[in-house]
Amino acid sequence: MIDYSRSTSPDVGEFLETDGRVAVMPFGALEQHGPHLPLSTDTLQAEALAAAIAEHITGALIPAIPYGNTWSNDALPGTISLSADTVTAVCADIALSLESAGFSLLVVVNGDFGNRLPLHRAAEAAASRGGMPILVLDYPGLTEIGDAVKETPWAAPGLCHAEEVETSLILAIAPELVHRERYVVEYPELPPDFGLRQMALAPLSHSGVFGDPRSASAEKGNRILAHVVEESAQVIAAVRTSLGITQQQQ
Ligand SMILES: [Zn+2]
Repeated sequence: MIDYSRSTSPDVGEFLETDGRVAVMPFGALEQHGPHLPLSTDTLQAEALAAAIAEHITGALIPAIPYGNTWSNDALPGTISLSADTVTAVCADIALSLESAGFSLLVVVNGDFGNRLPLHRAAEAAASRGGMPILVLDYPGLTEIGDAVKETPWAAPGLCHAEEVETSLILAIAPELVHRERYVVEYPELPPDFGLRQMALAPLSHSGVFGDPRSASAEKGNRILAHVVEESAQVIAAVRTSLGITQQQQ
């Protein structure tokens, strides 16, 4: 694995001479995560996952994008959002550079729900022009492992926002950034069409929390990370096989 931003140009050249040539890029967000988690929560999570995935598959870890399309959380202070078109364009432009450098696949580790459609649009555009494939991973296996480790109910199935799952992840990744004395429990009343249409999240939760962070732990966070890394590696292996991208020598 190479850490792109800390590598030299010859390091990347050497990496590209080996089989595989897979790049792994975390795509994060800067948005409110309640009173106890940092604004960079989604970026920190995507970065930690992408680093572990790059290590697992001997890929190149591309620097994290610290902003995303987070309009749905912009009512509380701190959120800085990109438009959906900008997210698509940033992903597409980076993919083009990697493609001309000789990479064979870009895996995007997406850290925020709002980036999903824009990132998949970039992947679709690459596929339709026959360019280097872009594989967007939206934390495969997260709901499953959340069900296994959580002691508190979801605010909505699979909805992770400043609750037990996200707080556990940051306790595992950057515990110094978690303000445990500020934990708030909030189960917002969700409209009956929640998840069926686009809607702003911010007006639904007064605190910005969707659930209960109190039983979060680093141990749970590490279990969640390990599971999502394993599931991601399986998806990548299937895509590599399908595309005929050979596995790299370990
Ligand atoms: Zn988040």
